[in-house]
Amino acid sequence: MPDPSVAIVGAGVAGAAAAVRLAERGIAVELYEAVPEPRPIGAGLLLQPTGQRVLAAMGLLNDALALGTRVDRLFGDTPSGRTVLDMSYRRFHLEAYGLGIQRGALMELLWRRVRQLGIPWHCGRAVEGFEQDEEGVVLRLSDGEAVWHSALILANGSFSKLREGMKVAQHARPFPWGAVWTVLPAPPAFPQIELRQRFHSASQMLGLMPVGKAGAGDAEHGINLFWSLPVAALDGWHERIGLDRLKQQMTALFPDVAPLLAGLHDAAQLREARYADVWMSRWHDGRVLAIGDCAHGMSPQLGQGANMALIDAHELAAELGGGRDGWPRVFARYGRRRRAHLRFYGQASKGLTPMFQSHAIVAPWLRDRFFGWGGRLPYIHQQSIATLAGVKTGWLWGRLNL
Ligand SMILES: Cc1cc2nc3c(=O)[nH]c(=O)nc-3n(C[C@H](O)[C@H](O)[C@H](O)COP(=O)(O)OP(=O)(O)OC[C@H]3O[C@@H](n4cnc5c(N)ncnc54)[C@H](O)[C@@H]3O)c2cc1C
Repeated sequence: MPDPSVAIVGAGVAGAAAAVRLAERGIAVELYEAVPEPRPIGAGLLLQPTGQRVLAAMGLLNDALALGTRVDRLFGDTPSGRTVLDMSYRRFHLEAYGLGIQRGALMELLWRRVRQLGIPWHCGRAVEGFEQDEEGVVLRLSDGEAVWHSALILANGSFSKLREGMKVAQHARPFPWGAVWTVLPAPPAFPQIELRQRFHSASQMLGLMPVGKAGAGDAEHGINLFWSLPVAALDGWHERIGLDRLKQQMTALFPDVAPLLAGLHDAAQLREARYADVWMSRWHDGRVLAIGDCAHGMSPQLGQGANMALIDAHELAAELGGGRDGWPRVFARYGRRRRAHLRFYGQASKGLTPMFQSHAIVAPWLRDRFFGWGGRLPYIHQQSIATLAGVKTGWLWGRLNL
């Protein structure tokens, strides 16, 4: 009898990419997604050279490039004109760039590949729990049905409850800050080659990133707008702050954003983002593996979440070996392979985020004085851009080999 299929819970970047990479290696997989009709929604993502390499391995990079926009530089400053960040991908590699892409556009590409590969995809079927034994894993679905699989991959995001069913030390701490974000049509002559940020201390932050088109038939290019807010202000912000006041705050911080904000006329255009810091002592428990945000959710300050999700999928497929090894061993090997990279980015995200989103005074003061200055030193610039590019596996040395 052939092995039963592997269940993947969640059809976001991590789940869809894992389904594709495993199916490409001849593994039978089935996707379970809670949302009845997944639609390509969400704002923009910056995909790093490492994530781009995974897309290339899936044969999707050219399509992603046709939809997205090359981002060559990141520049951030304060209202008084002090440079905080000025990083150019060329300093990492002459050919390197970030790929600004709408989340919906990326998801369409991944889902199209899922369909092409004929992967069974159960939408509107939330997984509520699981039990495993030496033979396999039984999933309990929201409609009461129980289904049996040879292994289970949890890719259902930072706020996964299923993760708690793994016998692994873990915590998921909701981050005290979140954001509102949207994609707006780029006004004529609006700069489209750099990610632009403006900071006031760590309590105000506006980010603009070119993200290309929503779909192949679309002519309009979009700019992703990100506005940081404490979670306490995020709940019910439209009643308490209101769109007009929010736009005034944005323009006061960064007057150049005014032409873009002409396209923001309804509070419903802005999506709320909340994130959590997820830590697990290891990512596998027998026949169950956690990947993507479910395994290592972090704040989006380093622009790595979707990138990491793609790398997880790719590295899992690379550990399949002959495929006769048994899932617990494959998952354990995957964990060893991912450890240094994921630990580095978890620590870097934890260390950097309060400098950009918090009520702290000293950390952003130090940031404003030393980041711009440090970035002019070739070694610091190299390390910073390598961190952004998603390749570092340690503070002093170590590079990811994809
Ligand atoms: C404001 C913001 C900006 C960001 N910017 C960047 C960036 O520039 N670059 C970057 O690389 N990353 C960025 N990220 C991070 C990135 O969006 C995430 O890391 C990535 O989308 C995580 O994908 P995932 O598949 O792990 O989880 P998710 O996208 O959360 O997908 C989880 C899926 O699981 C489904 N699900 C949940 N529970 C169940 C269940 N019980 N049963 C079945 N299905 C279930 C959900 O419906 C969902 O479809 C950003 C995030 C935010 C919030």
